[in-house]
Amino acid sequence: MALRIIIVGAGIAGLTAAVSLHQAGHHVRIYERSAFAAEVGAALNLAPNGTRVLQKLGFNIKRARCVLIQNWDTVDGITLRQIACQDLSKAPERFGAAYVAVHRVDLHEELMRLAKLNQPGGVELHLSSRVVRIDADAGQIELIDGRFEDADLIIGADGIRSVSRMAISGSGDANSPSTAAATSTGLSAFRFLVPTESLQTNAAGKELLEWKTPGATLLGDPNSVTTEQERHLMWYACRDGNVQNFVGIHPTVPGKQPEASEGYREQMLKEFAHFHPRVVEILKLGKDVKCWPLFHTEPLPTWTQGKLVVIGDAAHPMLPFGGQGSNQAIEDGGALGMLLENVHDVSQIKARLDLFEKVRRRRASRVQILSTVRANRESLVEKQIQKYMEKDVLLPNSFAARVAHDAGFDVFRRCQEVLLTG
Ligand SMILES: Cc1cc2nc3c(=O)[nH]c(=O)nc-3n(C[C@H](O)[C@H](O)[C@H](O)COP(=O)(O)OP(=O)(O)OC[C@H]3O[C@@H](n4cnc5c(N)ncnc54)[C@H](O)[C@@H]3O)c2cc1C
Repeated sequence: MALRIIIVGAGIAGLTAAVSLHQAGHHVRIYERSAFAAEVGAALNLAPNGTRVLQKLGFNIKRARCVLIQNWDTVDGITLRQIACQDLSKAPERFGAAYVAVHRVDLHEELMRLAKLNQPGGVELHLSSRVVRIDADAGQIELIDGRFEDADLIIGADGIRSVSRMAISGSGDANSPSTAAATSTGLSAFRFLVPTESLQTNAAGKELLEWKTPGATLLGDPNSVTTEQERHLMWYACRDGNVQNFVGIHPTVPGKQPEASEGYREQMLKEFAHFHPRVVEILKLGKDVKCWPLFHTEPLPTWTQGKLVVIGDAAHPMLPFGGQGSNQAIEDGGALGMLLENVHDVSQIKARLDLFEKVRRRRASRVQILSTVRANRESLVEKQIQKYMEKDVLLPNSFAARVAHDAGFDVFRRCQEVLLTG
């Protein structure tokens, strides 16, 4: 008998879990608060630990117009001098899967195709369906219109401002704000996309496109070395190379935030005015500039309660410094499918959720802590990570070690191990 599963939220975590649980033979319904299951106009980089999971689910990287990431280059954003370069071109040989960049909309669409959304026998997606409360022990959700729905298992994949997390006792959101409530980091991220063609027809843009190594380029400000003052740009292509994606990390500008993207563009040009003139020129090409305040939480002590498990940003919100938030959400989704395959009796669910925590919680907590520091500053969080170390895991205390730690993990192999040994 198929398990009846409810997923709260149709983001990357929710959709990946939906695909893998549907493929494991279960009946999946997703409740999503927004009216359209649409993603924001921004790109992501997917590391081998995430692409490995997507590949197994049948994800087509060509259809999703992914771009291979061959290097992770760190340069001084003011002089354009190279500081470090991590060669990622051998990732498929080394890790069994590639690094790629993908537009979030393309990732979403490909996941929705795999979920066979609202097709006969496929995953049910209910839009405009905000979940306002969850009874974890009864396995019941309450929707904003007063309806109740119940399930054998509820998966809370509702992002950083999660209602699901509140239903996990000790999560810190509801009654004990001391543990895991999201706190502001004092940093924000500008995000915008530029058609490659616009760069090619701009003198500075053309020069930088020729100068840039293929892959992800981090343009740092060597004078902002403390986390609170962090200022850097991340730049990589998506959509078959036809679109360039930019993220600009900067200290949050105090005061009222602009209402229109033009206001953010002005702010961005001020924040990065001291960068190399050619870099400033390409920032001027940014049209629809968005801005995300960045929040941090401490790792949660548990992700499960009764019939509820939280995944993705609901369980482990990350800062974007390691490019791992979605990758960890994807690992969560893949693991749930594998651990609940062949489970047809509700009495088995609790034991499998315990295995899920065993596979995921310490691993994601390490990555969550690492995500608070950018590339090449891993040694700063060495002590905090120690608490979450596991047998046979090497301490990720340098960028090379972080790449191996993050990308080298095979969540399916780990699931198989715990299924055999408990
Ligand atoms: C600037 C920036 C750059 C990033 N770059 C990368 C990167 O390169 N690589 C990477 O791996 N990650 C990156 N991340 C992180 C990544 O975006 C997140 O980790 C990822 O989107 C989390 O997915 P999720 O599905 O858990 O949450 P979300 O994407 O937040 O999805 C949650 C979903 O739940 C819905 N929802 C919320 N509340 C309710 C409710 N009450 N009822 C019903 N539905 C609800 C929302 O509408 C949404 O659809 C970046 C993040 C930022 C801010």
